[in-house]
Amino acid sequence: MANPLYDTLFGRHAGKTTAFLHLEGGVTLTHAGFLSRAGRFANVLSELGVKPGDRLAVQIDKSADALALYAACVQAGVIFLPLNPAYTAEEVRYFVTDSGAAAFVCQPARRNEMAPLAKDTGCQLETLGTENDGSFADRAASAPDQFETVAREADDLAAFLYTSGTTGRSKGAMLTQENLLSNAQVLVDHWGFTGDDVLLHALPIFHTHGLFVASNIMLLTGGAMIFLPKFDLEEVIAQLPRATAMMGVPTFYTRLLGDARFNRDLVGHMRLFISGSAPLLAETHVAFEQRTGHRILERYGMTETNMNTSNPYEGERRAGTVGFPLPGVELKICDPSSGQELPQGEIGVIEVRGPNVFKGYWQMPEKTREELRDDGFFITGDLGRVDEDGYVAIVGRGKDLIISGGFNVYPKEVELVLDDQPGVLESAVIGVPHPDFGEAVVGVLVPRDNGPDLAAIEAAMAGKLARYKQPKKLIVADELPRNTMGKVQKNVLRDVYAGLFTAPG
Ligand code: AMP
Repeated sequence: MANPLYDTLFGRHAGKTTAFLHLEGGVTLTHAGFLSRAGRFANVLSELGVKPGDRLAVQIDKSADALALYAACVQAGVIFLPLNPAYTAEEVRYFVTDSGAAAFVCQPARRNEMAPLAKDTGCQLETLGTENDGSFADRAASAPDQFETVAREADDLAAFLYTSGTTGRSKGAMLTQENLLSNAQVLVDHWGFTGDDVLLHALPIFHTHGLFVASNIMLLTGGAMIFLPKFDLEEVIAQLPRATAMMGVPTFYTRLLGDARFNRDLVGHMRLFISGSAPLLAETHVAFEQRTGHRILERYGMTETNMNTSNPYEGERRAGTVGFPLPGVELKICDPSSGQELPQGEIGVIEVRGPNVFKGYWQMPEKTREELRDDGFFITGDLGRVDEDGYVAIVGRGKDLIISGGFNVYPKEVELVLDDQPGVLESAVIGVPHPDFGEAVVGVLVPRDNGPDLAAIEAAMAGKLARYKQPKKLIVADELPRNTMGKVQKNVLRDVYAGLFTAPG
């Protein structure tokens, strides 16, 4: 094959007049229409002098054109580098500089704001909006829609996704054609996707979940997507009856459960709900099944590895777990300090190896060596354990581990107890500096109903957790800080409560 990723995801749908994207306002784009848009965009890239192997930084709103730009990059052998539209110009400057992007496509309204960074970094600046607007769209209008696909090898780079960088500098994860393709193929098979599926797509497409898991799967099968600009409860409820499957972060599902219209009748025809990117509370899993009759299928992955594990499509989808390693993925639980594999049932760092695992961090050979072993195992930094039936459970991020008075405290274990208390909707457990213990365990609680009775919770904790695991302080907060992918930002909580035990006075 000349270009495995292009040929398999895109090229094979050439000329197909079946629906690919259902867009706002009742507009539908066919596969052929989408590919001709991508072909024009690939011609524009070449007209701009963006060559195979160059990086194209892209910070635009989700739209059919945004996805077509991804397709164009694959066809032209250009490395696609999508960025969260929420990033400031200063943040973007880092990504453009670090990646050495040849060109940067931004939202039309931000052109002036971005012009200085483009000038300073010597990268070309173009704009693309969601309504066929912007300088890139203008160029596309007069470009041919046929483009001669650039030959690529399976090992060539297809995309850079920068890690969210909650600790230290954000790193550019280099993903190859093979990383993306192998994962899409495994997931289509594992989750039973076919060309008859219609996926409700409300995720952002600058992240692995919405771009690679969701879009690549549907591109591979030739099915269709209801492509929403973002998660909007009203719109999702309106569109669900047309869909057969949905992928989401846990907050999508908790928000749906908060609406009485979300019931068995609305989703009776659905085939599958999938959740990932952040832990799904066992309670949400149970409430979802009670309300809809569907068991959410939870899976686990990350920017650097695509998807690693999944609950089964057929068979028990076990709440509080992320299922089994996907076919072709090896997973082991290792001692964080020695790297030795631990016996089954023990908690340690999850390491994975397989065709899904990235090539390394762009221009960061040391970081790559720290996290990617010579034998190909990637040290995920997630802490997990494998139960007696082989189901993997995530118990937190390594960096969230609390060491209090020399004892290891896994936040998840404490959170599970806190979540069970009356008046508690959810909780986050963090470690904050403490003069005696090094770190002290602190529980942040989000109330429900009449709110929690803190004295009663402290008493309940005493019977359930060893003393060193019991929070030294419980704090009630309106909500937990979350990023766009629904992940609780524990670094933010740690900053807010850093002075709890050490601040003067
Ligand atoms: P990202 O690179 O932004 O996709 O974030 C990846 C991280 O999200 C993983 O390393 C996990 O810490 C977390 N994550 C992803 N899926 C799950 C899940 N199903 N349960 C718990 N954590 C998850």
